[in-house]
Amino acid sequence: MSIQKNLNSIKSKLPEHVTLVAVSKTKPISDLMEAYDAGQRIFGENKIQEMANKHVQMPKDIKWHMIGHVQSNKVKYMAAFVNLIHGVDRLKLLKEINKQALKHNRIINCLLQIKIASEDSKFGLTPDAAISLITSDAFSALKNIKIIGVMGMATFTDNNNQIKQEFDKLKSIFNELKDHISPNLKLEIVSMGMSSDFKLAIECGSTMVRVGSSIFGLRTY
Ligand SMILES: *Cc1c(COP(=O)(O)O)cnc(C)c1O
Repeated sequence: MSIQKNLNSIKSKLPEHVTLVAVSKTKPISDLMEAYDAGQRIFGENKIQEMANKHVQMPKDIKWHMIGHVQSNKVKYMAAFVNLIHGVDRLKLLKEINKQALKHNRIINCLLQIKIASEDSKFGLTPDAAISLITSDAFSALKNIKIIGVMGMATFTDNNNQIKQEFDKLKSIFNELKDHISPNLKLEIVSMGMSSDFKLAIECGSTMVRVGSSIFGLRTY
């Protein structure tokens, strides 16, 4: 199957309110360009340096999403162009994003990553920690970031019941956080679902799916 066919097949399965992030990590620019030529404009990467390299070489109407874990000291390499940072899980990181965004005179959109999986390895805030964060004075003072939704990753398992419970949890946390009011908060996006579980994620209320291998083929690291 070609990348274009894969992409069209995924897109045909998405309701109109669901945004597709084409996860292109580890893939060469020629693969990304195939998706671009088929109309895809949102790409997700999990390494800042790789995303920055691709950004330089590719058309400028692409929206680059950082979907991986972000180290504070690397924010400066994407602050000029990143469209959405999915994996924000601490105030210190938000402060750094805010500082770098200010340097470029922009407001950087972010999602709060919430820990929904049972595995220890998955990053993210607990629901309580997320609420403390968005209700803190330190948070309200950040004028160059905007939290526009939440992101989560389900446990790596083939137990669909468990995955569904975790997606339901993210959606309910989203609903809870939505009630809070702050100038830099406007929750609209629920980023959940990957190649193996995006259909289930959409049933559970996802508005943004991050699909890699079903579009570009398996990754060889
Ligand atoms: C790699 C990755 C994806 C895409 O995974 P696939 O199984 O290839 O669709 C989605 N989200 C995150 C955070 C990832 O790191």
